[in-house]
Amino acid sequence: MWLLLSLNLLGKIVAVFLFRSAPLAAVAAWLGVDVLLAYHQLARRARGIVVMHQRFRPAGRQVWLTIDDGPDPEDTPRILAALAEHRARATFFMIGANVAAHPDLARAVAAAGHEVANHTQSHLLGTFWCVPPWRVSRELDACTAALLAVGVRARRFRPPAGLRNIWLGHALPKRGLDCIGWSARGLERRNRDPASVVDHVLRGLAPGAILLLHEGPRVDPSVRVEAIRRVLARLEADGYACVIPERDQLL
Ligand SMILES: [Zn+2]
Repeated sequence: MWLLLSLNLLGKIVAVFLFRSAPLAAVAAWLGVDVLLAYHQLARRARGIVVMHQRFRPAGRQVWLTIDDGPDPEDTPRILAALAEHRARATFFMIGANVAAHPDLARAVAAAGHEVANHTQSHLLGTFWCVPPWRVSRELDACTAALLAVGVRARRFRPPAGLRNIWLGHALPKRGLDCIGWSARGLERRNRDPASVVDHVLRGLAPGAILLLHEGPRVDPSVRVEAIRRVLARLEADGYACVIPERDQLL
């Protein structure tokens, strides 16, 4: 992270010096370092800021189901019932503000044996990747506080939309939080029927896959919960167990 920031600063200084003598080279130096930084923020495989785990080392035919953006008063109870029906475990990446609004739901998720993790306090979908370090700290710590208030100490974090803010490279290790990505997702906002969501997420199905699905009002009503139910049914039919991997299994 510090290397990336130093390179970015160096590129900008070089660009300023080159501006009069070689304007094209100055533009290339200015934009080149920005492209490099953007790559490490956007590309899920890039490791320059912080490692975002996308798979885990399975012990057999196992996948990790992760559900983002809850808790939600309509969806969470129904998702819990579906998980229980299929004897599946999942990790819920929760938004701190939603936890504060529905603390009993967050407690119920943890009490049912699922993992509850940090998905920032206010889910700044379009801007989290570029907010300053004090705001990154506030987003992490306020969500952690909301989770602690319901008796949960989060070990995992997922940034909104999976976009890494550069300050996460310092902020996450300091707080003992692992950054978790995914290897397959339903893209529920694009696929507006449950069958398409299931097809999309199961395209990336393999032992050790991390599956990403969502709950809450950002998902189309026809898709909400139903897509998760169908994914659980397919996983069970294909002989997959939904597990929560330990830290040393993360790849
Ligand atoms: Zn989210």
